[in-house]
Amino acid sequence: MLNFPSFSAPLSPSFLHEKPLFCHNSSSSNGFSLNKEGFKGPSGEIHVILGPMFAGKTTTLLRRVRAESLDGRRVAIIKSDKDTRYGLESIVTHDGEKFPCWPLSHLSSFKQRIGPDVYDKLEVIGIDEAQFFGDLYDFCSEVADYDGKTVIVAGLDGDYLRRRFGSLLDIIPIADSVTKLNARCELCDKRALFTLRKTGETKTELIAGADVYMPVCRKHYVSGQVVKETTRTILEKQKDQCGSLLS
Ligand SMILES: [Zn+2]
Repeated sequence: MLNFPSFSAPLSPSFLHEKPLFCHNSSSSNGFSLNKEGFKGPSGEIHVILGPMFAGKTTTLLRRVRAESLDGRRVAIIKSDKDTRYGLESIVTHDGEKFPCWPLSHLSSFKQRIGPDVYDKLEVIGIDEAQFFGDLYDFCSEVADYDGKTVIVAGLDGDYLRRRFGSLLDIIPIADSVTKLNARCELCDKRALFTLRKTGETKTELIAGADVYMPVCRKHYVSGQVVKETTRTILEKQKDQCGSLLS
């Protein structure tokens, strides 16, 4: 059985703040809503961090969650269990900073996995690689609207063909804030908005790093796609010629 991080585990001290429930800071203390039972509770919040790969989304997410934790709020971080690049039970930024996290396939299982008592005490939930969660909308609206928690969500908005990727864009209508980050183009160092896949693999979900993907500006995205298409056409033509010579 996997040893998931919990608040009784020896986590970083910033994850172990003890404080009364719903003792929020001034940013949310004036917002109240009716919860399911009809009682007044604190209003939750949803913040979205999106952009291409290599834009610092995870770093920004962790910085925000850490700031909330240092402010005395109880926090937890969830990531998709599809991303196993740095081990399942931690998130690692490009700077090498490491945080314990809950690897899940569905957000709906979080409450049961962490335990209802610990869940009730949580005030801030961070979600990384959020595009992989099909139940992102339902989870975020439930957590913010009814449970009065703050959700900070980070993920890709588009895939390598610049099409919408997964579920992240679905929660923009219910978000308090949306931050679009950009990377630096690997070819000209200008602002990079897109992720170019360097290989010929065509499935949408291909989890990899700099060996497969590179951040590019608009100009180099377009020229990169043209180069890839031309290369593929030439290779296919050569394959056909080889095939007809062998037959
Ligand atoms: Zn460029």
